[in-house]
Amino acid sequence: MLFLDVDGPLNPFAIHLEALPAEYQVHEMRPDLWADPMLQPLRVCLNPAHGARLLALPAELVWATSWEHDANSWIAPRLGLPELPVVGWPEDLNAHAPADLCWKTPTLLEYAAGRPFAFIDDDITDADRLYAEARCEAPMLFHHVDPAKGLTDADFAVLAEWLGAL
Ligand SMILES: [Mg+2]
Repeated sequence: MLFLDVDGPLNPFAIHLEALPAEYQVHEMRPDLWADPMLQPLRVCLNPAHGARLLALPAELVWATSWEHDANSWIAPRLGLPELPVVGWPEDLNAHAPADLCWKTPTLLEYAAGRPFAFIDDDITDADRLYAEARCEAPMLFHHVDPAKGLTDADFAVLAEWLGAL
């Protein structure tokens, strides 16, 4: 499995718009969680080539994002991705998890239930690797993506090599 974060890897929210590579398209989105008319629409930059590149990886793609099901309605069609499974987050998110842990990591371990997985996110640190390795013996790749760059060729190379070697 490959757990996909949206903001950071697919939407490089920390990039300066002038530095945005030409392949990216800039969207304004109002997902369900952002429907309040007082809120500005979300600016989301997506590279439509990323969908095919993700689908070419030897992994089952799973959304692991605060967009939850909105990722299927708002993000997937712009990338040419089919509807993907979505990880749901508990109400008492990380109530017992260490403070430096990515808030998604305990839930992803539960979802994976011992199956190998890779996870791309801009919040990953060594704390996540240590937490996961102490609790699960399956091969796991916690791969940090720079939110000022989004997924790069180098990131795809790491994912292809790691997933291909499973
Ligand atoms: Mg993120």
